[in-house]
Amino acid sequence: MNIREIAQLGNPVLRSIALPVENIESDRIQKLIDDLMATLAPANGVGIAAPQIAESYRLFIVASRPSLRYPQAPEMEPTATINPRIISRSEEMVKDWEGCLSVPGIRGLVPRHRSIEVEYSDRQGKLQRRELTDFVARIFQHEYDHLDGIVFVDRVESTRELITEDEYQKRIVDGL
Ligand code: ZN
Repeated sequence: MNIREIAQLGNPVLRSIALPVENIESDRIQKLIDDLMATLAPANGVGIAAPQIAESYRLFIVASRPSLRYPQAPEMEPTATINPRIISRSEEMVKDWEGCLSVPGIRGLVPRHRSIEVEYSDRQGKLQRRELTDFVARIFQHEYDHLDGIVFVDRVESTRELITEDEYQKRIVDGL
């Protein structure tokens, strides 16, 4: 298990369409999942997608938990999400703040579907179907975008809804 370097905005890997995972049980993919988890934990993130460590595969980790970066996040086990599909999306959209390990120091207000129905394979290769809402649905949509070369800053409605991490901490987390 290795902590890997995180690709930053400007790296073409973040703009590529990732390839489906063919053999989930292979050592290569199992190690990739371990590396993603090892890279995510010390970065205080709630999700990471394989393209963010320069591996262009349709695979990401969702790991919601309260942290300094996301104090309101619900607690859940880090989950490997492989070859995900979004089956349906609620009409209702919600805007909330997002950040990204590949876009350090910046937060943006991003509209997302409030709930989604999703299907993916877990790391054992078993097909899972889930209905996700609110924060976890937001993480899923953010990570899913990475598989299609989309970054959250592409989805803000106005550049005026981009702020620095420092201001985010002061104004939104501390409630100023
Ligand atoms: Zn991201």
